[in-house]
Amino acid sequence: MEKKLKVISVIGTGYLGKQIIEKSLLFGHDIKAFDINKEDLSSFTKSMREKIKENKLNSTITQYGSIVDAVKDVDLVIEAVPEKLELKREVFLEIDKVASSHTIIATNSSSIPISKIEDVVERKDRVMNIHFYDLFRMPIADIMRGTQTSNETFEKGRLWLESIDITPLEVKKECYGFVMNRIWRAIKKDCLKIWAGGHADMETVDKAWKIFCQFFVESNLGPFYFMDRIGLDVVYDIEMSYFKNSGLSDDKPPDDLKEMIERGELGVKSGKGFYNYKSQ
Ligand code: NAD
Repeated sequence: MEKKLKVISVIGTGYLGKQIIEKSLLFGHDIKAFDINKEDLSSFTKSMREKIKENKLNSTITQYGSIVDAVKDVDLVIEAVPEKLELKREVFLEIDKVASSHTIIATNSSSIPISKIEDVVERKDRVMNIHFYDLFRMPIADIMRGTQTSNETFEKGRLWLESIDITPLEVKKECYGFVMNRIWRAIKKDCLKIWAGGHADMETVDKAWKIFCQFFVESNLGPFYFMDRIGLDVVYDIEMSYFKNSGLSDDKPPDDLKEMIERGELGVKSGKGFYNYKSQ
């Protein structure tokens, strides 16, 4: 199996499409691009060629006047057209009709799972979500399967991301908002509620967030390590307090957490929580 995806086609070269192109070129991939806004793509292509020359890269970028030509003989097509389901379905249908049989088609959609698009294509095993953030400042991307995406397709997508220095975040089971968007959504949702409810100024929220994040960056910890440090019994009681206060089922802590506590897995203080702290 040829695992490496070398020639990439980008359909829709707006804010995100341009970043995908630039990053891929910097890491030696050849790009074929199409956007309905021909003028904007032409000037971007020109600036990318200058960048290739300045950095003595071997990558190439070619602009095409149609999707048909832009997806010919490529290993992967990334669709980054506006976030409209019908438009994405049309674009996928068009790509599927003309792309080589080995070509993988991915959507950079921020919210639409590939399972809502896949029925328009024949190659249901070669489609996936690859959701980028800011490719230069936040080098992560959620990757998610459709209902029939093959392991080979998923693995190739993952390897391509690693080849352009982006950390893939695997979504194991279809989930609205993927991984990072869902975490960010939880934060943003309550920030807005605190602000709109007059509980604190936005400056206070921003100040708290920056100092809080500083701790995570300096200690190289994530939320699960942090919960282990607090103690999972304590975390559970706090979550139950929120649940009792709101009465909303969505606020109820997961039974899996309760079961961990019943097994004595309380985090750092018991030697095991989400992570293991017993010396091997
Ligand atoms: P954008 O509006 O900047 O770019 C969209 C581009 O698609 C435009 O250049 C437009 O001319 C082109 N286009 C429209 N219809 C087309 C068609 N039929 N064929 C070819 N090109 C077409 O939007 P964006 O911010 O780059 O977002 C694109 C996708 O990426 C969306 O699905 C969005 O949700 C997702 N996304 C955006 C961000 C972000 O920060 N902006 C982050 C992650 C994912």
